[in-house]
Amino acid sequence: MSKLKLKTRNIVIAVGCVVIVVVLAVGLFRWKKTLDYQATYEYKLEHHGYSEEDTAYFLEKLSNEELDALLARDVDENIPKFMKEEYYLKKNLDQYLAYYQENSDKSITDVIATVNVGANKEWYTDYVDADTSKDTLVLANKFHFLGENYEPNDLVEVSNWYAYGDGPLLRKIAYDEFVGMYNAAKEDGQDIIINSSYRDYQYQLDLYNDYVSWYGQTKTDEMAARPGFSEHQTGLTIDVTTYGENENTFDKTEEFAWLQNHAHEYGFILRYPEGKEHLTGYEYESWHYRYVGVEVATYIHEHNITYDEYYAFFLEGDN
Ligand SMILES: [Zn+2]
Repeated sequence: MSKLKLKTRNIVIAVGCVVIVVVLAVGLFRWKKTLDYQATYEYKLEHHGYSEEDTAYFLEKLSNEELDALLARDVDENIPKFMKEEYYLKKNLDQYLAYYQENSDKSITDVIATVNVGANKEWYTDYVDADTSKDTLVLANKFHFLGENYEPNDLVEVSNWYAYGDGPLLRKIAYDEFVGMYNAAKEDGQDIIINSSYRDYQYQLDLYNDYVSWYGQTKTDEMAARPGFSEHQTGLTIDVTTYGENENTFDKTEEFAWLQNHAHEYGFILRYPEGKEHLTGYEYESWHYRYVGVEVATYIHEHNITYDEYYAFFLEGDN
């Protein structure tokens, strides 16, 4: 072999080696890149069946732990819809999905509200003790039980100037705010009179039993709380009226209209609004107001939610 041929062969071999190394390196690099991509949540979520848009939403909102939990579930296009809701609670996701499956005619927003307040279950089932340490924010409803012995320690007697009945009682803070509200309404030419305020367990027991004997239990449960579950037992609740009106006519009065606009300024909310019966468990009561403080009352007024929803989201939350 001539020297020239030998040299050429060596060059060819050398070039060949370089090409092989480069091809291998590029291949390895690409392979590594693919593996890396397949390890990302983006790949996993899309491969699992979520759209690009939903995937981007999950990546922005969820922790790695939450993404792992999501991937462990079957794909459900409703999950991102629930997660995007204002009052979504992580702990309730399974219940939202189950309740929505049974009640697909309801809106996602309503499913969230219903499950959050516990109304996807029968009233009075799985109820817990009311957390009276929440003070003026205590929740008493068909899932939060005040008990036989709860009695606020700052009840004061309401002057007959403001109320019907014999020596009605109210917690001092609610009474003071009521007086402010009463005076402001009076200046606008409205008379707001307290019809009922604090009611103890025994009183509610007698009242409930009377109602049951008159209307039967089903109807009574829509109208009156069972003893220990009544908001009147918190001492923060008033039933109001005005001269010459009764419960059935109160919402046609100017006093009612005034309260609609101003009650929150004194920390009171209409507790059982129309259209929210499935959340509160009570018929619409235009006369029943609850003191929760100005800040909370204003939020509830502006966001058109019930106190049950407020409490579930802001005070119980995801715990
Ligand atoms: Zn009432």
